[in-house]
Amino acid sequence: MSELYDLHSHSTASDGALSPTELVLRAQQHGVTALALTDHDTTAGLQEAGEAAAQAGIRLISGIELSASFESHCLHIVGLNIDPQHPGLLEGIAKQQIIRDQRAQKIAEKLARKGIADAYATLRQIAGNGEITRLHFADFLVTRGIVETQQDAFDRYLSKGKPAYVPTVWASLAECVGWIRAAGGVAVLAHPLRYKLSTKWINKALIAFKAAGGQGIEVVTGRASIDDIRLSYLHASKHQLHASMGSDFHAPGNQWLELGRLAALPDGATPIWRLF
Ligand code: AMP
Ligand code: MN
Ligand code: MN
Ligand code: MN
Repeated sequence: MSELYDLHSHSTASDGALSPTELVLRAQQHGVTALALTDHDTTAGLQEAGEAAAQAGIRLISGIELSASFESHCLHIVGLNIDPQHPGLLEGIAKQQIIRDQRAQKIAEKLARKGIADAYATLRQIAGNGEITRLHFADFLVTRGIVETQQDAFDRYLSKGKPAYVPTVWASLAECVGWIRAAGGVAVLAHPLRYKLSTKWINKALIAFKAAGGQGIEVVTGRASIDDIRLSYLHASKHQLHASMGSDFHAPGNQWLELGRLAALPDGATPIWRLF
């Protein structure tokens, strides 16, 4: 049987709409045979996802998506095939979770100054013990009728330079890669084109990433065009990185972004799963 890998996805443990069990079942329905759950700065969904995957007869790869600071940029590092119980990793993500929660409170304060009250309390209730991300704030602004779409929420309030943007210092790129490696995992630079980095900066970032022990880069992501894939593969080749593929699925409702709905890796790419 041929495998279908989807190595980037989210559940209600962070900003996904589906519980880990619902996510796994949906992945199976879409033909995924190996799914990585990679919630933002948390491994809290992995146990439930693992149990659901065993029931459904698909493979669950334990993962995480860490927010990492690199100079003034925020990069997302996906860790795959990690030991979710590794003490060093748990210690690291506990610090990230404090940063995340404090940032959420500051975003809410900024919104309150714009006359938009109660964001933090509302989102804490919705997220439960899960991690709050800016996507929660975007949905909150849509629900309140303040903006029409998630994209409007980012464009008008949440993106860099907008009124509710809070500059944040996350763990360093080297620390994040170190935690993943210590937990037995492989570190992958997520969605390399989404940071809008110049060629000079992406090369600088990839050199630092590799020096820290990073081994992969997402070459195929949800909705990537042929040109996107070509460019991402060029980065992989230039820096001799393994290639990963993942949808970055958050919620049902977009037929162009679905679990397992991914182009094949380019011929010649070295798949990241060789390292698992
Ligand atoms: P955070 O890590 O809290 O800064 O939140 C980042 C999350 O917000 C990402 O993982 C996406 O889920 C979401 N996001 C970021 N930018 C956008 C955007 N322009 N439109 C929709 N969602 C976005
Ligand atoms: Mn997200
Ligand atoms: Mn991301
Ligand atoms: Mn993601």
